[in-house]
Amino acid sequence: MDNLAPYASIQENSTGRRHPEGSPIYRNEYQRDRDRIIHSAAFRRLEYKTQVFVNHEGDLFRTRLTHSLEVAQIARSIARELHLHEDLAESIALSHDLGHTPFGHAGQTALNECMQDYGGFEHNLQSLRVVDTLEQKYAEFLGLNLMFETREGILKHCSTNNARTLGEVASRFINHTQPSLEAQLVDLSDETAYSNHDVDDGLRYGLIAFDDLLKIKLFRDQHDKVVKQYKNLNDKQLVHEIIRRMINVMVVDLIDTSRSNIEAADLQTIDDVRKQARPLMAFSEDMSAQKLELKQFLRKNLYQHYRVHRMTRKAHGILTALFEAFMNDIKILPVEALEQYQALDYQSGDEGMARCIADYIAGMTDRYAIIEYERIFNPRQLSFANLIP
Ligand code: MG
Repeated sequence: MDNLAPYASIQENSTGRRHPEGSPIYRNEYQRDRDRIIHSAAFRRLEYKTQVFVNHEGDLFRTRLTHSLEVAQIARSIARELHLHEDLAESIALSHDLGHTPFGHAGQTALNECMQDYGGFEHNLQSLRVVDTLEQKYAEFLGLNLMFETREGILKHCSTNNARTLGEVASRFINHTQPSLEAQLVDLSDETAYSNHDVDDGLRYGLIAFDDLLKIKLFRDQHDKVVKQYKNLNDKQLVHEIIRRMINVMVVDLIDTSRSNIEAADLQTIDDVRKQARPLMAFSEDMSAQKLELKQFLRKNLYQHYRVHRMTRKAHGILTALFEAFMNDIKILPVEALEQYQALDYQSGDEGMARCIADYIAGMTDRYAIIEYERIFNPRQLSFANLIP
């Protein structure tokens, strides 16, 4: 890539892949990562996984797939403007949610509770597990064998205990250093994407009221500009014009603030990025406060809305029941999941079996989890035809 800042993730400075491979011919290493991610099964499943709304509730809502594409779009714009590695930013963005369970955060909470005695469950760690181990189709290695920087970006959070088991990719959680600027910017692009598209989905679904949103500065400021400029917009145009401006002001603020942080830090190489006490990619104080106001609004009015909460309860019940059923009688686990158990290096005993079941459940789409629940618990599905997957 031309035009990279000296402190960007330059592939020649990378520790590379866990299993050394020859260089690609017409692509750079991070483009190859992106291509492997797009061709993975876990990426295709994102289409049928809940972001906030269950996948089948409506065709117009964001899924984890469209969310990931929006994050990638925002991240690429920022990376290009700051002369960071756009392909790395894209790879991290497209893979950042690969480890999510069905049914969004409700699914993760349920699975984490089920896994309490067996090491817990965390979607960030699971995303890394998907690209490092669970995708099994390459001849020479397990997983996708991605570049260090892509893996580091996927691992957004990690407890010190978990970090000790993960080696170099998690060392920053022990040494208290920073990841690459590309990893930092994807994290903030994620927030920018969901804060805005959840407003859009929430309005469309009738869960949040337009008039209530006008109490939120970020929304109100852009609303006032739009209605001043255009008098006869329909509702759809009005909402879109406000939200596209909200994304824009957030992205511009993020670029401007980060650029001045980078200049002030006088960076020479990526090592200087890692040594910083705090991430250099950041929103201004004013934007951080506005963003927080919006997030608190969404938490109260959208994520905790009774209609969302009903879905959450149901999802929690489905995943917990599946986990317990498999733990109680491993013989009802499908052949593919058992084969994976044999192929991978799981721990012996209940701990390994629980991890295998968690991997199987986490990989399900929303609708697959519902069908699997029906197959196991619905007495009307007792005919042999229905028992065949
Ligand atoms: Mg995300």
